[in-house]
Formats: sequence, structure tokens, C-alpha cells
Amino acid sequence: MLHAGDPGMSRVPFVDVTHMARWMADRGVEALLPRLVDALEADFRRWDSFELVPRVASHSVEGVIELMPTSDGETFGFKYVNGHPINPSRGLQTVTAFGVLGDVRTGYPTFLAEMTLLTALRTGATSALAARWLARPDARVMALIGTGSQAEFQALAFRAACGIEQIRAYDIDPAAVAKFVRNAERFGLDVYVARDVADAVAGADIITTCTADKRSATVLPDSLVRPGVHINAVGGDCPGKTELEPATLGRARVVVEYEPQTRIEGEIQQMGPAFAVTELHEVIRSGRRRQSADEITVFDSVGFAVEDVSALRFVRADVLGTEFVTDLDLVAAPSDPRDLYALVVAAQPVGAQRR
Ligand code: NAD
Repeated sequence: MLHAGDPGMSRVPFVDVTHMARWMADRGVEALLPRLVDALEADFRRWDSFELVPRVASHSVEGVIELMPTSDGETFGFKYVNGHPINPSRGLQTVTAFGVLGDVRTGYPTFLAEMTLLTALRTGATSALAARWLARPDARVMALIGTGSQAEFQALAFRAACGIEQIRAYDIDPAAVAKFVRNAERFGLDVYVARDVADAVAGADIITTCTADKRSATVLPDSLVRPGVHINAVGGDCPGKTELEPATLGRARVVVEYEPQTRIEGEIQQMGPAFAVTELHEVIRSGRRRQSADEITVFDSVGFAVEDVSALRFVRADVLGTEFVTDLDLVAAPSDPRDLYALVVAAQPVGAQRR
């Protein structure tokens, strides 16, 4: 067993952006996604073993910065994540993130990773997991409204885990659609470029809304929502930031991740407190799929800490001991645990020891 002060104890494995991208390229995003869907489902099945708390959000005029913690009694984890829809206009990303795992027994951090790429992977996987339980099994066509950073991961997740064969893409920014089409060609995805939202959703079995706007926008008018469709609402994830109309929610079965957090941040913030929802772990554990081919289902996704800790543990299990990990000298490890000052003394230049 390692003790504080043992050589190497201060080193914490770290996956930076370069190595996360290389790991995804090496393993293949489409190959990783079904495995991550399974890992997420396994954690949703043991939902009661996690500490559940709505994330801590610090709002400003331009965006939000959030901390998302949870623990299963053995592993603690949290993610730092922001959401700033204005960022692309200044050459920055809307969402960036990093995450940490820690050992509950010692309190020591045990793993760190960038999570901008990893959030996109886990969000695609969580969306696909929900759709696996809620969408019609014969769903083959998905409308994708909003083709920004999350889009390729969403599209690949639905192809890999749900058998989606065609994406009908729409974005208010033609450059975002052109970017998506360019990337989709790389992985041989069948993409139809839609003229508008109505054109995108025509004939779609699943509708993913993944837009960024810091206000309540009607991205998907209720008049375009047909019976039997599954809506994967990803972009409405903050107070005052929604994509669907209340009328759609009112005639759908709405599934959420963690109700107390989604009441604050999700599409259902538009509904009263009595509006009934089901949590995704209940659907999975009870095996209660959609009730009929005509039912409208909505996954009101906001992102929850359990998914991030699942994703971090999934990456850690795959990368430890490989070239995708570097070590960070993150935790002070004096040989006498109470002589922390010895590290400062040891770091002083020769001849300055008396200061
Ligand atoms: P992004 O800024 O890269 O892309 C958003 C895209 O939406 C842009 O291309 C923009 O032009 C487009 N858009 C904005 N309004 C639109 C409209 N009315 N119709 C069509 N397109 C529109 O952002 P991103 O990283 O792809 O994230 C998208 C959204 O998903 C954000 O709101 C983000 O907060 C959210 N998100 C949610 C989760 C989750 O777990 N639920 C995870 C990650 C991101």
C-alpha cells in the first residue's frame, strides 16, 4: 500500500486535450460510444449508490460556470464546466470542461482529465442511452437542429447505439452546417441539409435539438411534433434557456436525469411543479419503454454528475498505463506528512536556507 511521502504518491494521472483527442482517434469515437452507453447504463442501474445533488451554478450575463459533484462511497468526482453561447462569436467554445476523480478513503485526487471532448462523448452516449429505451426500435432517421460542437458526437452515438441511418441537419448558421457535412463525410454519414426546421423534422423518427442561446427560444414549434417521435432536447440546460414549447411537453412523456436539477434547468422549468416526469434510471430499472408507437417521448437532458463520473472512470480504465496519460505533480508529498514546510526549505536556493 502506498503512503503519503512514498515516491510516486504525489503523481496523479492526467489526460490532456491532445491525448484525449489521440485516445478517441485511436480507439475510434464510434467504437467507444456503445461501450460508454453500456457503462452509463450500468451506473444508472445502481443509481441509489450515488450521492445526488443539483449542480452548483454561478450565473452571469454572458453565461454560467458550474461544478458537478457526486460520489458512490468509493470514488468521488466532479466536473468544472461552463456554458457561454456568446463564445463562438469571440473565437471561443460555448462549453469547456475538466474533471477530477478522488479516492474517498484518503481524499486524494486519483485522476484528472480534460472534459471538453469527453463531455461531448458522454452527452452523445447519454442521449443514445435514453433513445435506446424511449425511441421506436425502428427509428432510422434523425433530425439534428443545431450543428455545433456536440453535433458529430450526437450523430455518431445515434448511429452506433440506435441504428440511425440518416441525419437531417439544420442550423441558423450555414457555416456550422458546412462544418458538420465536412466531418460527416469523413465517417460516411448520410446527411440531408435541411432548408429550415420544418424540412429537417419531416419524416424524422428522432429529433435532437442541440442549440445554444441564452434565452427561451422556440427551436422546435409544437406544430411540427408528430405522434411517435422521440425528442432528444440537449440544448436547454439553464434557467431561462429552453428549446421546446410547453404544449409539446404537455402531450409527451418526459424523462429527465435528476428531477430536482432538471426542474431548475431543463425544458420542464416552463411547467408547474406538479408536472409529472420520470427519471431515466426508473425507466431503465423498470424496463418501462415507450407505451405505444404513437407516444411522444422527450428526453429533457441537462447533463448530470453521475454521467461525468461514469465517463471519467471509463476513460481511466482504458488509458492507465498507456501513452495517453501524463503524470501531474499535483499533491504535496513530504516524507513526514506533518512537515509540509520541508518542501519549501528543500526548494530554496543553496545558501538561502536560513530565510
Ligand atoms: P455550439 O455553440 O458549438 O453550437 C450550437 C449551435 O446552435 C450553433 O451552431 C448555433 O448556430 C446553433 N443555433 C443557435 N440557435 C439556433 C436555432 N434557433 N436553430 C438552429 N440552430 C441554432 O454549442 P454546443 O457545444 O454544440 O452545445 C449546444 C448546446 O448543448 C448548448 O446549449 C450547451 O449548453 C448544451 N449542452 C448540453 C449538454 C447536456 O448534457 N444536456 C451537454 C453539452 C452541451
